[in-house]
Amino acid sequence: MTSATLSNPGDGPQGLLPDVDLLHVESLLDPAEHERLGMFKEHLQTHVRKQSIDPWNREHLPTELLPALAELGLGKLFLDGSSRLFQGLVHSQIARADVSLSALIGIHNELIVGTIAELGSEEQKAQWLPGLSELTQLGAFCLTEPTHGSDIAGGLATTATLDGDEWVIQGEKRWIGAGTVAAVALVWARDTADGLIKCFAVDTSHPGYTATKIANKMGLRIMQNADIVLNEIRVPHTALLPGAMSFDAANELLKDSRAWVGWQAVGAQQAILDILRDYSLERIQFGKPLASFQVIQQTMAEIAGNLAASSAMMVQMARLQDTGELEMMHAAIAKSTATRLGRQSASLARDALGGNGLLSDYEISKVLGDLEAIYTYEGSYHINALIVSRALTGVSAFV
Ligand SMILES: Cc1cc2nc3c(=O)[nH]c(=O)nc-3n(C[C@H](O)[C@H](O)[C@H](O)COP(=O)(O)OP(=O)(O)OC[C@H]3O[C@@H](n4cnc5c(N)ncnc54)[C@H](O)[C@@H]3O)c2cc1C
Repeated sequence: MTSATLSNPGDGPQGLLPDVDLLHVESLLDPAEHERLGMFKEHLQTHVRKQSIDPWNREHLPTELLPALAELGLGKLFLDGSSRLFQGLVHSQIARADVSLSALIGIHNELIVGTIAELGSEEQKAQWLPGLSELTQLGAFCLTEPTHGSDIAGGLATTATLDGDEWVIQGEKRWIGAGTVAAVALVWARDTADGLIKCFAVDTSHPGYTATKIANKMGLRIMQNADIVLNEIRVPHTALLPGAMSFDAANELLKDSRAWVGWQAVGAQQAILDILRDYSLERIQFGKPLASFQVIQQTMAEIAGNLAASSAMMVQMARLQDTGELEMMHAAIAKSTATRLGRQSASLARDALGGNGLLSDYEISKVLGDLEAIYTYEGSYHINALIVSRALTGVSAFV
């Protein structure tokens, strides 16, 4: 194992090496946010990074880590009025410590708290936001289905039928994050009356809700993904989110959450640089550290370039979010490009760690597996690429 000399961000060994914030992006934060980010980094590197390896191996959700994260305000980041740049940098720092935990906290903020806060009724906010904000409750965002992934907008088959003053929900969902542990499921279903896709807040204690963990994932192993069956669930009329009356509402949410995945890829690449730099300085072959070989230096420079390009792009994405100018095309560029670069960086670094690169103890294979997952979720790489080209040409390749 390495001694993780760069585990104190901003403070390389003997202060000789720069922090992985290669472009000094953090200097764009105001002093209060800068200081708050420092607290997050300290906590995540000290209490989360190494502690997440064993649960990741066991595909176990380490709930014992959540109270401290809640105390830092990570359950309500979306609500705290901070800038999008700050939120993005926080998400990248969580991903730097563990990408699957960043999936849990990111989806929680962007797609659970965010959906209820932006689209929910006052009653729904009062019922769910307090527990979610304190991370004493989790939520599940239930859109994808066993037979509809990339084509979910047109193909969504789960139905909602109004019967008196109740909705009857029937269908199946797949890949749903936190599906086995969530208190509330935000279920997207097609209204059988008008054919529109709407969102319902479903209490998961309902007997018609069944969630089965999807085991043996190669990445995001801490995140508990589930197959869900919704068997004639009857919910009151008030379970319908008043702001979510068509798929356009889902698209608005996905725009910001796709941008968030770009920040995950930034954090993952920071982790890759942390891991590779430490290892290459310590591992001796032919009487010299790996870091002295040109091929390793080339690898490291390529990863640094990928990280810098991803970071700079995400700073501008955050600006567009703050000014309300972020469009789906921007988010699709962010998501597809940052995850493509991240995946390449992870593969390069995995090789540079030799055989040890195959062991999650040395962290890099863990990051590699996690990047495979984020390359595919929130719209696969190809679907996001097609969104970009559709915006550029006016021609859609996927409808
Ligand atoms: C770890 C993980 C967590 C997830 N969490 C959630 C969650 O919490 N909630 C939720 O609702 N969903 C979640 N998802 C689902 C995720 O959004 C889908 O996996 C994703 O949209 C892709 O759908 P699919 O897996 O069915 O792949 P498919 O749609 O079957 O696609 C398979 C391949 O075909 C390609 N492809 C498909 N159509 C086209 C086309 N027209 N042109 C070119 N290429 C195409 C895709 O790019 C992909 O490479 C999660 C997925 C994963 C893996």
